[in-house]
Amino acid sequence: MQALKFFLILFPFLNCFSQDYLDKNLKNEEYLSFRERIKARISGEKIKNSFFEANKSFTEKSEALGYIALTFDACEGKYNEELVNFLISENIPATFFLTGKWIDKNPQITAKLASNPLFEIENHGLKHRICALTGDKKYGLKKTANLDEIIDEIELNNRKIEKLTGKRPVFYRPAGAYADEICLNAASLLSMEIAGYDSLAGDSFSKTSAKEMSENIIKNARHGMVVLMHLNHPERNEVGALKIAVPILRKKGFSFCHLEDFTIR
Ligand SMILES: [Zn+2]
Repeated sequence: MQALKFFLILFPFLNCFSQDYLDKNLKNEEYLSFRERIKARISGEKIKNSFFEANKSFTEKSEALGYIALTFDACEGKYNEELVNFLISENIPATFFLTGKWIDKNPQITAKLASNPLFEIENHGLKHRICALTGDKKYGLKKTANLDEIIDEIELNNRKIEKLTGKRPVFYRPAGAYADEICLNAASLLSMEIAGYDSLAGDSFSKTSAKEMSENIIKNARHGMVVLMHLNHPERNEVGALKIAVPILRKKGFSFCHLEDFTIR
């Protein structure tokens, strides 16, 4: 009984410190009615089993220009400060895809990154779920269970990011870069472009060396290339890879830009 009393006294305080990616303030009446309206427009669509990996970016490819977009997913957990310091010291624009989970662990860092014009903040999903009702599990990641979760995954994180940064994202990269046509439909109704990628640096695997990563980045370099790396693995080799790749790419005539700078087809 004493323990229960203690818990009841502490509960509101514990709640303050709990991870708040569900963000009850954002899930208000206005949002719930908005979600119903979006759902009504999706439910009428024929559900197709078109599970896909967003492994092609929709950016313009040409030989004439030489811009590359470095994008970094912050899935959950830690923050690679050395990476951000390197990008700042080299004046390299970058695009960060943040999850609601990561933001809740790093709210001050999110605001700080957003206040630097070198960086663009985009949406990697509220709970880092694969955005699909069809298809298989990938990388041990959970999938969205229903239409409500699909819309929450995209829109609640949009609103969370906008609340913190003052700017609504325009790109959504689903967890694991996997989605299906239902998710694509929801994203389009929410005016979001699904962000793909052209080059995986290989930092999803802890053993990829800086040299291997840099080779993965350099080998297909061309205008419009979107590189996918991570912001939440300070123990991996992204900084070492960029220290090798950036001078080589610059020597080849390439510059770096935000994803939003590319012409979207
Ligand atoms: Zn991720």
